This record gives sequence, structure tokens and C-alpha cells, in this order.
Amino acid sequence: MLEKTKKQIAILGSTGSIGTQALQIVQLYPDLYEVYAITANNNVELLIQQARTFLPEMVVIANKNKYAYLQAALADLPIKVYAGAESVAEVAEMGPVDIVLTAIVGYAGLLPTIRAIKAKKIIALANKETLVVAGELINRLANQYQAPILPVDSEHSAIFQCLVGESANPLSKVIITASGGPFRTFTHEQLQHVTREQALNHPNWSMGNKITIDSASMMNKGFEVIEAKWLFGLKQDQIEVVVHPQSIIHSMVEFEDGAVKAQLGVPDMILPIHYAFSYPYRVKSTAQKLDFKQISELTFEAPDCTRFRNLGLAYEALRQGGNVACVLNAANEVVVDAFLNDRIRFLSMSDVIEQTMQSIPFIASPTYDDYVATDEEARRVAQSKLQKIK
Ligand code: NDP
Repeated sequence: MLEKTKKQIAILGSTGSIGTQALQIVQLYPDLYEVYAITANNNVELLIQQARTFLPEMVVIANKNKYAYLQAALADLPIKVYAGAESVAEVAEMGPVDIVLTAIVGYAGLLPTIRAIKAKKIIALANKETLVVAGELINRLANQYQAPILPVDSEHSAIFQCLVGESANPLSKVIITASGGPFRTFTHEQLQHVTREQALNHPNWSMGNKITIDSASMMNKGFEVIEAKWLFGLKQDQIEVVVHPQSIIHSMVEFEDGAVKAQLGVPDMILPIHYAFSYPYRVKSTAQKLDFKQISELTFEAPDCTRFRNLGLAYEALRQGGNVACVLNAANEVVVDAFLNDRIRFLSMSDVIEQTMQSIPFIASPTYDDYVATDEEARRVAQSKLQKIK
């Protein structure tokens, strides 16, 4: 049973796909959860609307240019209003906050996650880029400050759920499922001409633009492989990816005796978000349930790292370790932004990422400052490679 006191939740990135779904959960379960703080980057209108509906203690807009407008719009309410990246990190540390949902997209999620860990908060981690960029540092800090990291990503939530009650039993590997995205069956020739609109049309999941492009290019799956390493303490050869187009099995764990446990459900992010909020309990839900009589087939195939080079690049970053995955992430953010703005073709994204990975000096045991410097340098290099590719 869940405790009777309401959990206080800080939602970093409340205006995004994950953030808005998290707010739906709070709305459905007002006896269990209360919103302590919400943050956004630019979308001030939605942030105002959310603040008026949920009446949090604090609201932060990262873009300082929107501060005056936000403050004026909420002036009649007893809500503290702040602006800037530092304030986003500060709300993650606030005393009354029990759970910090890191639903910011990209590298910007790293600093507030570190600050929340140092404040010993429960981290409901959606921002996978944090673990891709700095998994080793994050794990060290989470151990040092005894801050639990609960996965929100559906695949990692599935693995996490399969491991409940298995602490005495070593696993032999995890099997991360991938939908394959909108281009699963496309040939190399077809991939050369795909458009932004096609890439944004994911067959099974409705998500923010950046992760939708990452899913189409399979970088998302590569990130999830790296995320799994840090969340579950795995070696590279213990992380397998299998394409499962129906997105019913969210991932699996194979144990040493050969038994495999899988977690299944409808593809709906509300489920893993809510599991992170309610863990170790499950909360009764009226959401759509699986009807096995309607599922005619569950199919599996090997991923193709030749057509989807990003998956191979992510495995390579994992193999090399150090600051290489930080480079991978930075270069990817640059090319995804360029693709979304029609400045690079779909397949060229992998070229820029690979060339950037080869250009940045290797650091075996990066500090936080090393990650910041690596991110900056990798973005600069990726931008210049981008110009040359055009
Ligand atoms: P969205 O793009 O939909 O939302 C991103 C949120 O982050 C928005 O609230 C946005 O504010 C805010 N934001 C963006 N940039 C900054 C910044 N520089 N500083 C502060 N806030 C910022 O993303 P998603 O919700 O799709 O994804 C969020 C994270 O969750 C990603 O790391 C993604 O990989 C992960 N994830 C998402 C899933 C999904 O189903 N969407 C599934 C699994 C993981 P604004 O609206 O003002 O721009």
C-alpha cells in the first residue's frame, strides 16, 4: 500500500511529452501526488496554464527572456516564479520535494539531475541523455548520496520490474526491445530520401520531436543500451537489442538458468512514469489493458547496424568508455536539430556523429568539468562538419 502522505513532485520539463503525461497522473491521483514545482524552457503559455491548474509552490522558465511575462501572468497567485538554468537546478533541491522527474530533453537535463542527486531526492529518470553523457559520474554520485534512480524509459522500467525480487539471482543478459521506428523496412536507397515529416511519424509512440528522430535513426536504442549499462551495472555483451515491431514486450531479462522474464503492456508512457512515482507499489488504474485475444502475433528480428549506423556508433562509444558517449550525445543533438531544420539529410547524421567521435581527444576518467568541456567542443566540431557535409 502507498503511504497516506502525498508525494511532492518536481517536474523538470513539465510542458513536454513526458511532463504533460506526469501531470495527467497527478490529476488522476490527487490523494497520492502533489506538484511542488514545474519547469519549462520556452513554452510559457502552457506553463502558465499548468501553474493555474496545479498551483505548485514554484514555477521556473529556463529562458530568462520570458520571465517578466510569466511573472505578470501569475501575479495574482501565491506561486514563486523564477527563471534561468540555475533556478531549474535549484527547484530540484528544494526540501519538501520527494521525487524529481527529469523530463527535460537533452544535455540540459544533466546539471539539475546532479543537483537533485546531491540533495538525496528520488530521481524518476526520463532524461536518458544524463546517463549517456555522464553515466559513471552519475552512478558514483547516486551511491555517495544514496539517491535512488528509478527508470522512466519504458524499456528500462520493464527490466527494473523484471528484477524485482531477484536480488539474489545474477542475470546473464538483458534484451532491450526496439520497435524499429518508421523506417524499419526501408532500404538504404529509401533512407537517403526520407523527410522530416516521415521521421516524425512514429508507428507506436507519441513523443517529443528529438526522441522521435532518435527513434527513427535508432540512436534512441543506442542511448538505451548505454543507459542500461549504467542503470543495471552491465557489461557490453550483456546488453542485446531485438526489434519487436508491436511494442508489447517492453524488454526482458535472461537469468543464469536460462529463464527469461518479460514485462508486457500497452505502449503508453503513463505506465512506466506512474510506476516510478509509486514504486515499490502498483496503483490500480483504469487505463487500457492488454487483450491477448486481439494480439495475433509477437515478432522479433535482429537490428540492422548497417542501415542504422547509429546503433553501432553507440556500441562503439560504450566500448571505448571515457568521454566518448558524451561526444556521441553532443554530436547527435547538433545533427538532430539540423535535420529538424532541413539542414542535413537523414543518413548524413551518422557521418557527422562518427567524424566528431574521431576528432575529440579521449579522456578516460572525466570529471564534471571535463564533460562540460567535451560537450562544448563536440558541438563546435559537429557544427563545422555539418557545414562541410552540406
Ligand atoms: P519534449 O521535447 O516533449 O519536452 C522536453 C521538455 O524539456 C519541455 O518541457 C521543454 O520545455 C524542456 N526543455 C527543453 N530544453 C530545455 C532546456 N534547455 N532547459 C530546460 N528545459 C528544457 O521531450 P520528451 O518529453 O519527449 O522527452 C523528455 C526526456 O524523456 C528526453 O530525454 C527523452 O529521451 C526521454 N524519454 C521520452 C519518452 C517519451 O515518450 N516522450 C520516452 C522515454 C524517454 P519547452 O516545452 O518550453 O521547450
